[in-house]
Amino acid sequence: MSWPQNTPPRQDSDAAAGIEISDNFERFTQRNDIFTRAFWDPSVTSKHTAKFFASYRMEAAPRRGDGFAQRDFALRNAAWLVSDVISNRRGDQGIREGFQAPIQNDTPVAPDPLEVEDPARMSAEVKRIAEFFGADLCGITDLDERWLYASRVDTRDFSEAPHDLPEGLNTVIVLGHEMEADLVATYPSALAGAATGREYSHEASVVMQLAAYIRNLGYEAVPSMNDTGLVIPYAVKAGLGEYARNQMVITPEYGPRLRFSKIFTNLPLAHDAPKPKGVRAFCDICTKCAEACPVKALPFGPPQEGGSNVSAIKGVRKWTSNAEKCFSFWAKMASDCAICMRVCPFNRDYEKPVNRLWLRLALSRFRKLALRLAEKHGTRLKPGDWWAQSQKGSK
Ligand code: SF4
Ligand code: SF4
Repeated sequence: MSWPQNTPPRQDSDAAAGIEISDNFERFTQRNDIFTRAFWDPSVTSKHTAKFFASYRMEAAPRRGDGFAQRDFALRNAAWLVSDVISNRRGDQGIREGFQAPIQNDTPVAPDPLEVEDPARMSAEVKRIAEFFGADLCGITDLDERWLYASRVDTRDFSEAPHDLPEGLNTVIVLGHEMEADLVATYPSALAGAATGREYSHEASVVMQLAAYIRNLGYEAVPSMNDTGLVIPYAVKAGLGEYARNQMVITPEYGPRLRFSKIFTNLPLAHDAPKPKGVRAFCDICTKCAEACPVKALPFGPPQEGGSNVSAIKGVRKWTSNAEKCFSFWAKMASDCAICMRVCPFNRDYEKPVNRLWLRLALSRFRKLALRLAEKHGTRLKPGDWWAQSQKGSK
C-alpha cells in the first residue's frame, strides 16, 4: 500500500487555505496559550482567575442575575462532566488529557492491520463512522507539522514536555461538533457555557471511540481535543470551512457555531482539499464581532502578522485577537464568552431555506447587501427565556 498521492504541494495548499506564513514563523509553544498562562504567568493571573476556575467546581458563589444563578452554573458544569473525568484521570502524572496532552489510548493497536486498497473508500468509511459516533462534520488532511505545538505542558509544574507521539503519523482527521443554537444565543452567561461544555464532553467520547475503531483495524490513532496542535489550520486544510475575523472557522453547515477535535493517525486515507468560498471577502467588509466584543479584543483592520502578546503565534499573517484582554473578560464573568460567535451573521440555522439564500448572497459579489440584511442579526436571548422554553416544552 502506498501513501495517497492526492495531497497537494504545501504552497498550493496554503494558498487555497488562505494561510500566509513568513520567515518569522515559529511553531507555537502551548505553555504560552492563555489558559495555560493563567496557571503560571503573573501577568495573566488575578483574583478573578482563581474564581473563574473555582466556579467550574461550584466553589465560587453563584452571582445573582439572569444567566449567572446557581442553575446556570450547575448546568454548565454538568455539561463539562465527561470531559472533566477524562482530562483529570492522569493529573497526578502531569498529563491533562484533551487539553495539555493527547487523550491516552485504552485500546491496543490490533496486531494484523487491515489491508487498505482504496484510501478514498477508507476516508468515506471513516467519515461515516465519525457521524455514527456523533460528529457533525468530518474532514481529513495531512499532518502538517507546522501546526503541532512545539511541546506539550506538564501540568505538575507547567514546564514543557515532549509530545511522545508514535512514529509515522501522517494524517489528521478533523471533527466538528455543533453547539446548541439557543444556548449560544444567550452569550454572555454561565448558562451559555453549557453549549461549550456539552461539546467538549461529546468531543472526548467521539475521538476516543473513533480512535479505538482505527486501532482495532491495526493502525495508530491518537485522540486529541485542544492539545498537541492548533486545530483551526487543520480544519481549514481539511476543507471544513474558512478562517474568520472572530478567530473561528466558518462552515457552510453551522457558520461559526461549532467546536473541533482531531485524531492523528497512520491509517491510509485520501485527503480533502481546502474549499475557499468567500468568507474572507465578507469579513473584509464586516466588523460586527470586533464591535460587539466588550473588551475590544478583536482586530478591526486587515489580517496582520504577530499579535500583542506571547499568546499569538509568530510569523502567520491573520486576524489575531488579544487573548489577554479576552481572557480577562472570561475571568471577570466566571464563564466563557462567545459574543463574537453569537453576533456573527454566519451564525444561523441553515436548515431554513431563507438562511441558505442569505449564505449564497453573502458569498457572492452581493455581500454588502447580505451584510445590510444582517444588521439586526444575533440579538441576545435572555437566559431566563431559555429556561422558560424548557417549561413550555414540559406542558
Ligand atoms: S470571546 Fe468575548 S471577549 Fe473574547 S474576543 Fe470574543 S467577544 Fe471578545
Ligand atoms: S462577525 Fe463579521 S467580521 Fe466577524 S467573523 Fe463574522 S462575518 Fe467575519
